[in-house]
Amino acid sequence: MKTVYGPVSSWRLGRSLGVDLICSKEKICSFDCIYCQLGELWKKNAQRNNFVSIKEMESEIVSALQTTTPDVITFSGTGEPTLAKNMDLAIKTIRNISNIPLAVLTNSSLMNREDIRDTLCKLDIVVAKLDAPNEEIFQRINQPVDNITFKETIDGIKKFKKIFTGKLALQIMFMYENMQYVDKMMQLTKNIGPDEVQINTPLRICPVNPLTKKQLGHIEKKFKIQGLNTISVYTSKKPKTTPIDKMELIKRRRMEL
Ligand code: SF4
Repeated sequence: MKTVYGPVSSWRLGRSLGVDLICSKEKICSFDCIYCQLGELWKKNAQRNNFVSIKEMESEIVSALQTTTPDVITFSGTGEPTLAKNMDLAIKTIRNISNIPLAVLTNSSLMNREDIRDTLCKLDIVVAKLDAPNEEIFQRINQPVDNITFKETIDGIKKFKKIFTGKLALQIMFMYENMQYVDKMMQLTKNIGPDEVQINTPLRICPVNPLTKKQLGHIEKKFKIQGLNTISVYTSKKPKTTPIDKMELIKRRRMEL
């Protein structure tokens, strides 16, 4: 399995070259979200580790950038990117070889840690997950490891927003399990004050049914009326991309068609 994949056609980031610092056949994550398209969990933990070689990542990026010019390089893939202990070194290494903006898709679960916030501050774009308005729904939808709580996760995002000079986007996955909490989610979002809100629903193959265009459109409208800069999976345009290696996308089940 290669560390670098894509570029992916992303509705939120444009042409995004993926860097998978986990690179596992089964996901390694601090959550086990009910809508996760990565399949059954292999290891649910919040222990940080080195999963890939940064030297190999570097040579794969150098080679990829010879044939493609992505809009952004994004840490994402087969689990939670902040579980990679060498993420800081990976950022430093990519900065030395490219000026392309650097992003991460994170589940926000480790943002309450100062060392993680320091690392994430070195990025240009942080896309942080928030799917629940309270502990009960957080446990039901995101199914975190035992020591991760809703309160700590929210506190982490708020602390991070105060120090981050880049773009903080909040990604919210709406489904039948949380659609009755739209107003509470909106209030939480306003308290955090992200630069952008990304309204999503599970459109890829998973055990959870997506909301319809009409339902999500209604939610998007409510967020916009509140003055929140909001985009949505149904209405955002996706750029055309040609992946370097289609198999690498299929392996991660992140093929956006
Ligand atoms: S945070 Fe992402 S990778 Fe982890 S379980 Fe949820 S959807 Fe899957």
